[in-house]
Amino acid sequence: MKPLPKEFDAIEIEKKWQKKWEEMGVYRFDWKDKARPIFSIDTPPPYPSGEFHMGNVLNWTYFDIVARYRRMMGYNVYFPQGWDCHGLGIEVQVEIENDIRKREIPPDKFRKLCEKLVEKYIAMMKEGVIRLGCSVDWTTEYRTMDPDYWRRTQLSFIILYNKGFMYQGTHPVNWCPRCETAIADAEVDYEEREGTLHYIKFPLENGHDHLLIATTRPEFIHACVAVAVNPMDDRFKNYVGRKIIVPIVNRTVEIIPDENVDPSFGTGVVMICTYGDKEDVKTVIKHKLPVITILTENGKINENGAKYAGLTISEAKEAIVKDIEAAGLLQKTEKIQQEIGVCDRCETPVEILERKQWFMKTRILTDKVEKTANEIAWYPDYMKTRLVDWARSLDWDWVISRQRVFGTPIPIWYCKNCGEILVAKEEWVPIDPKLETPRIDKCPRCGGREFTPERDVFDTWMDSSISCAVHAGWPDREDWRRLFPADLHPSGTDIIRTWAYYLMVRHLALFDEKPYKSCLINGMVLGLDGRKMSKSLKNYVAAPEVVDKYGTDAARQWAAGGGATGSDIPFRLPDVEYGRRFLTKLWNAARFVSTQLKDYDASGKYELQLLDKWVLSKAEKLTQKVTDALEKCQFNIAIEDLRNFTWHTFCDQYIEAVKDRLYKPELYGEETRRGVQFTLYTVLHRIIQLLAPIIPHITEEIYQTMYAEDIGQKTLQLAPWPKPDLRKIDEEAEKKGELVMAVITEIRREKAEKRKPLNAPIKRVKIYAGNSKFASIISENKEDIVGTCKISQLEILSEKGGGRKVQEIPEISFISEY
Ligand SMILES: [Zn+2]
Ligand SMILES: [Zn+2]
Repeated sequence: MKPLPKEFDAIEIEKKWQKKWEEMGVYRFDWKDKARPIFSIDTPPPYPSGEFHMGNVLNWTYFDIVARYRRMMGYNVYFPQGWDCHGLGIEVQVEIENDIRKREIPPDKFRKLCEKLVEKYIAMMKEGVIRLGCSVDWTTEYRTMDPDYWRRTQLSFIILYNKGFMYQGTHPVNWCPRCETAIADAEVDYEEREGTLHYIKFPLENGHDHLLIATTRPEFIHACVAVAVNPMDDRFKNYVGRKIIVPIVNRTVEIIPDENVDPSFGTGVVMICTYGDKEDVKTVIKHKLPVITILTENGKINENGAKYAGLTISEAKEAIVKDIEAAGLLQKTEKIQQEIGVCDRCETPVEILERKQWFMKTRILTDKVEKTANEIAWYPDYMKTRLVDWARSLDWDWVISRQRVFGTPIPIWYCKNCGEILVAKEEWVPIDPKLETPRIDKCPRCGGREFTPERDVFDTWMDSSISCAVHAGWPDREDWRRLFPADLHPSGTDIIRTWAYYLMVRHLALFDEKPYKSCLINGMVLGLDGRKMSKSLKNYVAAPEVVDKYGTDAARQWAAGGGATGSDIPFRLPDVEYGRRFLTKLWNAARFVSTQLKDYDASGKYELQLLDKWVLSKAEKLTQKVTDALEKCQFNIAIEDLRNFTWHTFCDQYIEAVKDRLYKPELYGEETRRGVQFTLYTVLHRIIQLLAPIIPHITEEIYQTMYAEDIGQKTLQLAPWPKPDLRKIDEEAEKKGELVMAVITEIRREKAEKRKPLNAPIKRVKIYAGNSKFASIISENKEDIVGTCKISQLEILSEKGGGRKVQEIPEISFISEY
């Protein structure tokens, strides 16, 4: 066996194997292989943000560990990688970087700018994925902005349209006035902000009386269509049905009863506007109230706002409050903390506008979503309720159209004459209705020959929420169902409501089948201040800062070991440093083993002593535990057990205890030395096998130098996963070995406390074993104790005695003499 070199350069080793594995095609999915079972991963295609941060390191490490583990388990692993290119994020960035607004330049030119930016970002992120050592099959790479991908998105829309899941309707939608587009509930974030509650007098018609209304949105006064009170509220129930005058506007509206009015908020009287918030939407629908729109798409007051037309929302608020005050109708104001919805791309407060939009009927699937969520394995299990709760909380169907440029075109035209909706035929896609007319001569309804294209594009989740089917090869491969449903869908706690949910409703609607069999959830990465790591909070750490300095095998240990799967995990540099020290410890141990195995002959005769049996048995138990942990995606348990075993049991205890037998075969016998060689060879091999999914690079380097020639697998990554062999577990040897180790450890501890080097000789040691059973175990293994601790004269007594107690087994004590 070749010895390992003394020094090792982790980063150089990592880059070398990343390149070699790619050349060897280790990660290729074999479409022709019908023998091995398939394991398919529904890799989430990320938004190309250009950043590869510690959050990415966390989730990619999770599913890369699964991929590598499954390969070793003998699966034909499918680990694709796509990029979810479209969306607001890119458009906003293009607008910022080029200091333009999308409406100022032609759409195709704007799209080109988006594509260019996306390519730049993909290149940056791809480097991060490769550098992390992710075992992605790059032959599968795709981009959702490619027309070939549009084809799939559009086809799925057409199928769902024909199944009755898609409809166009005029409904209130969440609207971002900065991005000038509809957005889905999932794209609305909620923030605590300070607001002002204005107490405004509304005069009653035909009377001198007034009602006081408290509102945070006086700028909506022109859109006031009713005033509501709770019918159970004794203060106001007599007013129900009367007319009241809206100040400034001088229009009368009715006072209506609505049990959703909270009598304890403000004054208990509220104005219903179209639309100040989601509650207004419900009230308007329930009471069939008229709708007065007062906002333009870019967030200004329109002509319905009379003299305030053209003002921004905040300008209008200021002007209207001033006028109300001048009219003597403002009684008081007070500050309140309120939760408001903001656009998740630009943090602008979201408004509600009524617009013609395309929707997918998602709420009719809620029961099915819940049923399916219960059939799926969740890691961790409690995350399933997040999906179910989200589905149950949705008030509106999914608005899938966006008033944007950079998105998949909606394959629809409208007849100019009669307005008939013309949906593209399945065989027409990919198609951009803005560039092509429908491939028919005339409108089937009225015979008209002119058509208007749909200018809206799809929500980007329409692209990515068919990934399970697309990854499997739908609709092109006849055998796509071999890979569907996906075996594993990785998701983050922050995207359960989007990714996990949309995947579920799309695939249920399309195929009436669950999209994935299991869902692996990662938590958020927290910065040093305990808050979610983000650039704006200045607690952000970019992945290259860590990976380029400590190596990816160290960073991956932090990701795997930082906390339980699904929980939020703080980024702690000391964890990465500990990971780095572990690599050094592993390397030094492997190097020691390699120097002791120069003359190792696997076929030679050998004899195992107690401590050999002890460590071999423990290695078997470790195999069982690590296998169980990886099966359950408990990466932190796997890495902790592995590091403890390697560091303490193997290096600090076993190797130290057998050095004497290795160095002095003339004293202990050649077959005993070979027994140690066999044990070192076997246990180190087992350690690197079990560590291979988590820290693939250093383990491969050790394998290739020490074992590959002997074992014959071209890479550790494709070598079979060790099956835990319960017959090799030797409880008796473990118990006895534990006892001997405890004695050795205590003698060494005493040495350390006396500030003596570990190899310092001890003149005499007298052990009080406490009973004859312990005494005989210690006697049988006297040589290991004497050799490891460098004791000249060892006396073993079976009675109890004084001296220093052995921590782990306090019945035993000893007296030493230096
Ligand atoms: Zn926005
Ligand atoms: Zn027509």
